[in-house]
Amino acid sequence: MALHPEGREPAGSVADDAAELHRAGTLAGAGRAAPALLDERGRPLRDLRISVTDRCNFRCSYCMPREVFGPGFKFLPAAEILSFEEIARISRAAVQLGVRKLRITGGEPLLRRDLAELVTQLPHGRGLDIALTTNGSLLSNHARALAQAGLSRVTVSLDSLDDAVFKRMNDADVPVSRVLAGIDAALAAGLAVKVNAVIRRGVNDAGLLDLARHFKGTPITLRLIEFMDVGNSNGWDLTDVVSAKEMLERIGAELPLRPLEALYTGEVARRYRYSDGSGELGVIASVTQPFCGDCSRARLSAQGSLYTCLFAGRGHDLRAALRGGIDDEGLLALLTRIWRGRNDAYSEQRGQPLVKLGRPRKIEMSYIGG
Ligand code: SAM
Repeated sequence: MALHPEGREPAGSVADDAAELHRAGTLAGAGRAAPALLDERGRPLRDLRISVTDRCNFRCSYCMPREVFGPGFKFLPAAEILSFEEIARISRAAVQLGVRKLRITGGEPLLRRDLAELVTQLPHGRGLDIALTTNGSLLSNHARALAQAGLSRVTVSLDSLDDAVFKRMNDADVPVSRVLAGIDAALAAGLAVKVNAVIRRGVNDAGLLDLARHFKGTPITLRLIEFMDVGNSNGWDLTDVVSAKEMLERIGAELPLRPLEALYTGEVARRYRYSDGSGELGVIASVTQPFCGDCSRARLSAQGSLYTCLFAGRGHDLRAALRGGIDDEGLLALLTRIWRGRNDAYSEQRGQPLVKLGRPRKIEMSYIGG
């Protein structure tokens, strides 16, 4: 069985445990609850993020800066990327082990041809949520097919409503109107929509209130994200981070907000309601208020490595296992072993040098998605 050297051997027979989880998973379908698969810190596996491509049509400086991801950059050849069948197989196994949410991401996932076909092949039902994160620039063309294929919802990244600021950030000359048209198409197709904005001091923080005003009173929840130190190429500096606290104060001064209870353990965004009852706003404070303690997310890279943290340096090579002929029971055992050996809590340890933590360079966000 192929397990990356980073993976640790848990005590006991993993194959037996996986078989037990597998049987329980089958029973769960008949009304019995499966025992939770927990990592070393007692966190369950609930959420699988699936990157379907390492390519993107944007060159956001905080994610895929053109200096690094320019014309000479070598993206993955097609043969190295997981097929839809391979992704669907891993997803089915993950769902048997407790995953309740599958999120398709990238790179820009809508660059992957026939993406709706992948949605069709993913497991459905039993309360499973299938979501997509996209920059929205191609969404108008795909929203209806994705909804018909069974997508539940979409998160659109939109960092500014000011064309000049937005174009400077995406570095691909894409206007705001194209993304707003994508959002409209998603709503018209019946998809639930959230909008994510990464806020970077001195770059787009002056537009915070414009964003809040624009989405207030609509069915769309805006979520403001603290600029994170993902990957190794975005020139991150703590002084560029606008804290969630500051964002809430700046918006709340004009549009009063009240905190809401979390809907479930492990919810990434802290939720607020406008005091006049006109909708919600979320903040994702992964830098100033890390939420590693509740993190139930695993991330599958486009080339089929499973990462147990957004800031991980190494993944576990599932593609080699699949292409080496692993059977379904073996795949469950492998995933079980990886999750049980998980101990990551990077955001809580931020500030300690990676060398001191004994970790290699971090994976780039474009390989494993947000
Ligand atoms: N291309 C798609 C998109 O734009 O949404 C999916 C991939 S993108 C990597 C996923 C999310 O990660 C986006 O919302 C993006 O803004 C966010 N992101 C990328 N780099 C980030 C950073 N350094 N800090 C915070 N969020 C980041």
